[in-house]
This record gives sequence, structure tokens and C-alpha cells, in this order.
Amino acid sequence: MCGIIGVENTQDAATLVAAGLMTLQHRGEESAGITISGNANMKTFRSMGLVSRLVNADALNKHDGTAAIGHVRYTTSAKSSLINAQPFQIECIHGQVAVAHNGNLTNFIKLRDTLLKKGAIFNHTSDTEIFLHLIAMSKGNFPNVVAKSMSLVEGAFSLVVLRDKTLIGARDVNGFRPLVLGKLGNSYIVASESAAVEVLGGKYIRDIKPGEIVVIEDGKIIKSFFYKKPKKQHTCIFEQVYFSRPDSVAFGQSVKAARMKMGQFLARQMKGIKADIVMPVPDTGYYAALGFSRESGILFEQGFVRNHYLGRSFIKPAQNMRDMTAKLKLRPIKEVIDGKEIIVIDDSVVRGTTSRRMINVLKEAGAKKIHFVLSCPPIIGPCYYGIDTPLKEHLIAATQSVEEIRKYLGVESLTFLELKNLVNSCCPSQTCKSVFCTACFTDKYPTRISKDAYKECG
Ligand code: AMP
Repeated sequence: MCGIIGVENTQDAATLVAAGLMTLQHRGEESAGITISGNANMKTFRSMGLVSRLVNADALNKHDGTAAIGHVRYTTSAKSSLINAQPFQIECIHGQVAVAHNGNLTNFIKLRDTLLKKGAIFNHTSDTEIFLHLIAMSKGNFPNVVAKSMSLVEGAFSLVVLRDKTLIGARDVNGFRPLVLGKLGNSYIVASESAAVEVLGGKYIRDIKPGEIVVIEDGKIIKSFFYKKPKKQHTCIFEQVYFSRPDSVAFGQSVKAARMKMGQFLARQMKGIKADIVMPVPDTGYYAALGFSRESGILFEQGFVRNHYLGRSFIKPAQNMRDMTAKLKLRPIKEVIDGKEIIVIDDSVVRGTTSRRMINVLKEAGAKKIHFVLSCPPIIGPCYYGIDTPLKEHLIAATQSVEEIRKYLGVESLTFLELKNLVNSCCPSQTCKSVFCTACFTDKYPTRISKDAYKECG
């Protein structure tokens, strides 16, 4: 997954983008980048690791510009390298252009092969570079050129594009990944999540619509149009379950409210269950556990303390530290857990490996009985639209029954939120028009997936 943001019409554009990226840090910790434009030449700063590493660079603070875009990246480790850190900046017939992308293109390999045969030179291995080639090869009015590039790609893409002082925010026709529009004084902000707008002191205005391209310049929306007629949207329901911040509005619905509802529904599914406490796996399980507690009347407790200073980049390369990771990341509070029958709420089971380690940590802390509860259904299909889920054979629920998983995890009971209850949690009102992509739970994909669909977050 990745996070993107753009700010225009302010001398503080780079600083605001940096602060916005810090708010989007949970969407990607592997690399960060900012492109600044509008006054002098366009310049891009990129770095591996957290946004804080980038922001410390003196050059970033000194570079003058009135518009900026930024990106935080989350990929599989093999492809995580500085060369693929975004934004990508090029010089072409349209001048200097930069793009930052959240999502996955499902026809990337095919498009790249076609472009290679035409003589295109690729500098990156990320699918995002396709947009730059398509933009560079197309003539005409710039927003139309961006629209044309979007009409040729398939899959999931929310984009921020920068050219001189013009900022463009755009979403694919299915609306897989979120992108919101906000206002701060005389400036517009485009960001993956509303929290990134609000942290800057801005106001969330609305979601950019599936298929919409919003062109912004000098604090005004100079054009808003659709590159393709949207038929049916397929917003990613996993944004509500796991990815988005609880203080964000995702696809028009408060993430915190949706997670509370998931907990309520789970308590109804498990009506009559007796336990001493209900506790979350921090941080994503927090509101579902609170909702469960309120619905069931079972006492809510915080049985884990999470260490917030362990980045993925620290944990991943250290193979010999894998087993220690669960203990480093989550420390149990023995006093809360010892001798108790507990309901533990997490968002999802993917491979099952970290869940098993976490459950062992609870047993070592003296848990008498553990009921493990998940705020989504079993994940049976990989995501081709930007969530970093492994291939089908590594998804525990794709190969094992719920009872087999329960035994493997070593818990008293195992409960998944039913799909209809998940959808109702995320779309409760009569007026809600959201239609979700639930492919990871159903193995039914809303778009064509080519055999070589690119499984890498742009
Ligand atoms: P596992 O033990 O492999 O099933 O991992 C379960 C944990 O992974 C849960 O605590 C989730 O919060 C977390 N998780 C779910 N989806 C992702 C993802 N795409 N990337 C990283 N962690 C995830």
C-alpha cells in the first residue's frame, strides 16, 4: 500500500506535504519522497525509510516552490529500493512532470512489453513508470494527456500529478483506492486520507470520484472531468478494516465508526459468549474491541502494549529475529491477562504466522482460554489492487478450514466477521452508495486479472 498527497498555491507546499506524509506514514514505511515545483525548476527528494529521514534533508527545506506532491511506499522487500521510491519526475514534451501513485496496475507487464518494443527505456521496476511513458508519448492539452494515459491502464490507481504549479488529483474508474480533496486557506490539498488534510489545518471537502480528474491551479479548480464513464465503483473494503486511520473518513464513512460497528456485529454473531475481558491487538483491533465490549457488556481491557518504534525495515532483514519480533512488537500486561478467559480482537488473519506467535505470547502471560476474533472474513484471494497480501498458497484461509486454522493457532474458538456484516458496518445508511471490492474474501475480482498481473504497489 502507499500514501499520496499534493498541496498547491502556497510557499509552504513542501513543508505541508512533509507533514501530510507523516500522517500517512502507516500506508508505507519503506521509502518517502517529495517533488517541489512552481517557482524554480522542479526538484524531487527521495529517501529510503521514514518521512522523518527525508524531512531532515537541508536541501528540502531550502528549495523554493508553491506546489508539491509526496509519496510513502510499502512494497514487498525484494522490490523495495531507492530507484523505485516515488514521486517519479521526468522531462518531456510537456515540460517537467512528476507523478505519485497508490495502487496496482493489472495490465502493467503487457503495456511495458508494448512500450519496450517501441523503444521505450525503463528506469524503474515499478508499474507507476507506465504513466510517465504514456504521458510523454501523447500530445495535446496536459489534463487530456493525463486522461489518455489513465484510459490505457487497468487496475487500481489514485494519482497526484505535478506540472509547474498545476496539481492534478485523479482516481481510477473503479475507485479502488481512496483520494480526497481538501481546502486550506487559498490552497487545495489532495490526499489519500482525510486525516492528512485535517492535520494541516485544512478542511475535508469531498472524495475525488471514481474516474474523475481534478485539475487545480492558483487555488482554483480549473477543470474536473471523467476519463471514463464510471459504471460501478469497487472501493476497497480492506481500507476500512485495516489500512486507513480511524480518524479518517474513507469512502464517505468514518473509519472509527465502521470498526465500532464491526465489533458490534461480531458480538451479535457470538451472542451468549462468556469471557472475563475483551482486548484488542493494537492498533487496528482497538475500535472493533470497543464496539464488541459495548454490545456484549464484556469488560474492555488493554492487554498489550505496542512498541511503536519498530519499523518494517528493521524487522525484515533480520531473519534470526523473526521469532523475537512478536515479543518486541507486542508486550502483554500479565496483570490483565493472567488466569483470564479472554476475547482477543484483531483485524485479519493473513498467513497465520504472526497471529500464532501473538497467541503464544498471551499464553505465556497466563491466559486461561483465548477466543480469537477477526473483524473481517477469511482472506482467500490475493489482492491485485495494492494491498500487500501474499500469493494464494500462502494465505492460510485459502488452504485450511476455519477449524484447521483454530487448531493451528491453538485457541478455544475462532470467529470471523461475516461478509454481509462487514459490508453493513462500512455502509450503514440507506443513502450509502458504496459498492465494495471484496475480492480478497470471495476470490471474485471486479476487473480482468491477467496471468502476469503485477503484484507490486506503485
Ligand atoms: P498473519 O499472522 O500472517 O495472519 O498476520 C496477521 C496480522 O497482519 C494482523 O495483525 C494484521 O493486522 C496484519 N496485516 C493484515 N494485512 C496486512 C498487510 N497487507 N500488510 C501487513 N500486515 C497486515
